[in-house]
Amino acid sequence: MNGDKKKVLIIGGGLAGLTAAKRLVDRGFQVRLLEKRPIYGGKVSAWKDQEGDWVESGTHCFFGAYDVLYDLMKEIGTYDAVLWKEHRLTYTLDGGHRFTFDTWDLPSPLHLLPAIVKNGYFTFGEMASFSKSLIPLALRKDKYPPTQDHLTFAQWAEQRKFGKRLMDKMFRPMALALKFIPPEVISAKIILDVTETFYRIPESSCMGFLKGSPQEYLHQPLIDYSTKRGAQFQTESTVDELLFDGRKIQGVQLRTGEILDADYYLSALPIHNLRKIMPASLKRHDSFFSNLEHLEGVPVISVQIWYDQEISSTDNVLFSPDGVIPVYANLARTTPDYRTLRGEAFEGRTRFEFCVAPARDLMGLTNDEIVQRVDRSVRANFPKESQGAKILKSTVVRIPQSVYAPLPGMEQYRPTQVTPVPNLFLAGGFSQQLFYDSMGGAVMSANLAVDGIVRQAGRNGA
Ligand SMILES: Cc1cc2nc3c(=O)[nH]c(=O)nc-3n(C[C@H](O)[C@H](O)[C@H](O)COP(=O)(O)OP(=O)(O)OC[C@H]3O[C@@H](n4cnc5c(N)ncnc54)[C@H](O)[C@@H]3O)c2cc1C
Repeated sequence: MNGDKKKVLIIGGGLAGLTAAKRLVDRGFQVRLLEKRPIYGGKVSAWKDQEGDWVESGTHCFFGAYDVLYDLMKEIGTYDAVLWKEHRLTYTLDGGHRFTFDTWDLPSPLHLLPAIVKNGYFTFGEMASFSKSLIPLALRKDKYPPTQDHLTFAQWAEQRKFGKRLMDKMFRPMALALKFIPPEVISAKIILDVTETFYRIPESSCMGFLKGSPQEYLHQPLIDYSTKRGAQFQTESTVDELLFDGRKIQGVQLRTGEILDADYYLSALPIHNLRKIMPASLKRHDSFFSNLEHLEGVPVISVQIWYDQEISSTDNVLFSPDGVIPVYANLARTTPDYRTLRGEAFEGRTRFEFCVAPARDLMGLTNDEIVQRVDRSVRANFPKESQGAKILKSTVVRIPQSVYAPLPGMEQYRPTQVTPVPNLFLAGGFSQQLFYDSMGGAVMSANLAVDGIVRQAGRNGA
């Protein structure tokens, strides 16, 4: 029967590639997926170290807005592994200062009232001037952010004259947490898009954590689902080049020299890897492809530190504007399966996971130096609670090119999933969809790419 099915070759086994595989087997295609690394999951991958502890590419928060991701998880039976946390954003500052943004269970925009009137840090005047700066957003809704893509968020804030403290203490960690680049670098469009969504849809800013590793609750269930329906998955299979004959993709060349062919090709690679496998002839073929040269990845570092005492009891994500840890969480609180140290139960103490950004200037440091910097930030944020705390273990993961950098003016270069080459499709966080480079974005991009393949196959009479 497989002989009658149209073949799709997926390049890249991150969340976008794995989602596409599932969606394509559901639509009756024969799927083969090639992944370069020994494990699946890409930027949301997780693996056990030699001591039996999970290490992740990075802390992953599940925003309430990612309906497409939750639909997928319901289909593979793992949605219950998302543990929703209290609807509150907590910021920790040097010297042990804190502020929180709570929401009330009221229709938009009233749900944001407590964040404005009782955050415990910003004055009513500061919040009022901030609210005023958002009037164009409130009036024009999602039509407004695209008009601001020529500015960095810092430039936009300067024009709208909202306070420096709000920028430094609230938006700096937000920009760094979202895309690992500061407000002076990130496009205003991104922060305004996110703010508009949080403003319009109350539950969109609620955060969840997986009960355990994404390997167990996302990737393996996706692979098992698709394998049962005939899909083939291969790790340690690097694609070196798309073979383009001037009209169509004729095959892919693997690092081993092997050539594989299919009816349709779906790249689910990050932008820097996609650029590497595109031949010059494809880049010349259409500006759609040469435009991809404008996009690039952002460096980021993920650090875990196990401490011998409980430093933070917060069962939720934490943001910090001071030091090198814009977003982090105590996994010993948020993530039940991660209450381990060297395979033994690890309760009532701290297993922090940090996203360290901006990371460009830190990439050259040794692991020990990076851990020391992070530890200094922890002790500055928790001067009392960290007294006498000892580090029991740490891990460091460097990602030189992670999510694509949403700099001003880049939106125009983000490609659609359907390309000018009739049998080539693109998925991945950098491609055009609502959620930028995120788990929601990866899933949405895969859905759109699969829709494109289904349409094309229909045209071809499949
Ligand atoms: C530290 C960190 C924290 C994050 N936090 C969050 C968060 O809290 N919430 C959120 O929603 N998102 C978060 N993200 C973003 C999210 O992880 C990504 O947007 C998403 O995983 C992207 O998935 P993808 O499939 O598009 O790409 P990738 O995950 O990059 O997958 C691409 C795959 O292609 C493979 N590949 C590359 N080249 C080749 C080749 N030549 N041949 C074959 N295979 C190849 C790679 O090995 C990889 O497995 C975070 C990312 C990082 C790095």
